[in-house]
Amino acid sequence: MSDEKLPTKDDPREQLREKILADYPRLGPDDSFKFACHPGVSCFNKCCGDVNIFLAPYDVLRMKKRLGMTSTEFLDKHALIPVQKDMKTPVVVLRMNEDEGKTCPFLSDSGCGIYSDRPWPCRMYPLGLASSKDTPDGWRGERFYFLMQEDVCKGFEEGREWTVRQWLDDQGVDEYDEWGEAFKELSLHKFFEDGGDLSPERLNMMFTACYDLDKFRQFVFSSTLLKRFEIDEDFIEEIRYNDEALLRFAFLWLRFSLFGEQTMKMKQDVVEAFKGAAKDERPD
Ligand code: SF4
Ligand code: SF4
Repeated sequence: MSDEKLPTKDDPREQLREKILADYPRLGPDDSFKFACHPGVSCFNKCCGDVNIFLAPYDVLRMKKRLGMTSTEFLDKHALIPVQKDMKTPVVVLRMNEDEGKTCPFLSDSGCGIYSDRPWPCRMYPLGLASSKDTPDGWRGERFYFLMQEDVCKGFEEGREWTVRQWLDDQGVDEYDEWGEAFKELSLHKFFEDGGDLSPERLNMMFTACYDLDKFRQFVFSSTLLKRFEIDEDFIEEIRYNDEALLRFAFLWLRFSLFGEQTMKMKQDVVEAFKGAAKDERPD
């Protein structure tokens, strides 16, 4: 684990977020912008360095598969995992090379070397997605797109016009968004909104189940976990070999075990055993 700091109120990244909420024009799916990126632009490859790319579980799943690595190997080699005392949920950041330009390890002369499996933030660029927390429920505010107009990027001088929707379709963002929404059922859970904190052990459990899928699979098949729930045999076989199925299972199991949601059903004999144990522990 790295001791990299997470954004705080004084952090430039958090200040940028505040600025985006205050000043950036908000775009909807039908709004348009001009942009093109291709090897002919004078800035080609200049944006793939010295950036904080926050990875979601599905990003890691796709990248580790693309690279033929286990999730554990991928995280060891390509991720920074910042730890901070008041951290609510695990954070994983793509590790840049330690060269002068802090270039992305997947950058090649011809562009992104993992293009079809590049993570969500790289697909979105030059669009960003933000949401305001200034809502009555204080949590899930208005979501909107905005343009990251960075000086280095000359793509805005190219003539091609897109609507936001066309860009998202072209970049294959929808599939990533669906997984992102499923992850938010955990990472933006009401438990946190109500001020809840996970213990370090539970935080670690969430990290392993979401990000270190190969380690999580070992745990699932070497423990009694599967025996305690009513789970379809076909689905068990699927999660043995299929990472997407395992990640779906991980999200359901975490919602059950961390937040008490009824996303899974315990076997009746296990429920009875728990009741019995609780009765035995009652004082006379
Ligand atoms: S993953 Fe690809 S697109 Fe993203 S920063 Fe690295 S080289 Fe660039
Ligand atoms: S800076 Fe902009 S135009 Fe240049 S390579 Fe990056 S995304 Fe493309």
